[in-house]
Amino acid sequence: MLSRLTPEELRKISAERMLVHWQETNRFCGTCGAAMMRHANPAENAFVCPVCGYLAYPKICPAVIVLVTKGDKILLQRNSHYGLNNWTLVAGFVEPGENFEDAVRREIAEEASIEVKDICYFGSQSWPFPSTVMVGFRAEYASGTLTPDGEEVLKSDWFDKDHLPEIPHPGSIARQLIDAWRFP
Ligand SMILES: [Zn+2]
Repeated sequence: MLSRLTPEELRKISAERMLVHWQETNRFCGTCGAAMMRHANPAENAFVCPVCGYLAYPKICPAVIVLVTKGDKILLQRNSHYGLNNWTLVAGFVEPGENFEDAVRREIAEEASIEVKDICYFGSQSWPFPSTVMVGFRAEYASGTLTPDGEEVLKSDWFDKDHLPEIPHPGSIARQLIDAWRFP
């Protein structure tokens, strides 16, 4: 469906989906356990606790997604939680204390056992499954032997433009990263 939506439609649907998820998962105060109420100002997307005053705003979780290049090839991998035929890019949530570049380096080291250099921002995409913003980067291989972690990542390999496997769907930032590389 992503590929058929305009950016404006995607933004609206994303926002609605994230807000519904946020409302469903913030019915009680995380501090004192009382039932939450909507903020008195309807323009304010917030719940407020009538007992302790705790304010809860929608939570958006940043995740990084990275196209790693090595010469004229890119790194693709098969993840255990996707279908077996789907190859995709290294991706993962940003952890507390990290900046985006830290998360890029850690995810690649964890999932593929390699080091990268020249990390470069590409673009971002709201990803309401349930409440993520995907932040896209490119990076160049620096060192190490490509080794999938065997748990989250079952298989990984380098692919050139003429021998790509089935790649992520049009409309996803993963596909945008791959298309920007193969149709420069
Ligand atoms: Zn409370």
